[in-house]
Amino acid sequence: MPHPSRASRRSLLLGTAATIVGGVAALGSRRGDAIRTEADTEVDALAASAPLPIERGATVTAPAKRLRRVGGIMFPMGPEPRCDVLDNFGDARSGGRSHEGVDILATLGQEVYAVTDGVLVSQADASASLSGNAWGLLADDNGAYYFFAHLSRFAEGLTLGDRVQRGQVIGYVGDTGNPGPGNYHLHFEVHPGGQRAAAVDPLPLLEVPFECTIT
Ligand SMILES: [Zn+2]
Repeated sequence: MPHPSRASRRSLLLGTAATIVGGVAALGSRRGDAIRTEADTEVDALAASAPLPIERGATVTAPAKRLRRVGGIMFPMGPEPRCDVLDNFGDARSGGRSHEGVDILATLGQEVYAVTDGVLVSQADASASLSGNAWGLLADDNGAYYFFAHLSRFAEGLTLGDRVQRGQVIGYVGDTGNPGPGNYHLHFEVHPGGQRAAAVDPLPLLEVPFECTIT
């Protein structure tokens, strides 16, 4: 299942391109193909940027989404309007703990996605002093466990034990738990061996959208 926001952007792109192509086809039949229009120029520009040549009137395939980093794990959050990935796995934390994930700075309410098909096997609510509202997702395919913390709220209708699909919205970015008011971000962990197994640095494994920064 495609990334929802990516899917909607793609359909928007397709819609725009289809409109332009359709417009050109209509002009061509009225005026003859020899006359070039502004719309022709736009189609040429689209063709120049697309991976495959575009034939007039043909179905247009939007260029593939550009990624800043290609990894095996889907990016867990909608990248807009803000997406600043902190390379902070392993950083020291209070009480001798170390930071077991990466933090993705965002704005209140950005969508958080299931990164794979699986089951929501753990849940914490806003009273959890560290994580705040959080989901744990156990992957169907390889038994990896993913943890999503500090959500402002959970996606409506989801409960512990539910099966979710890759790309499904499971919650929204917030500041619950220990971030402090207004420090909206998603804390994301990867435990390849399951819930009780050690966390690894997610960053080298993540597919990071081009809209995001990594610092
Ligand atoms: Zn964190």
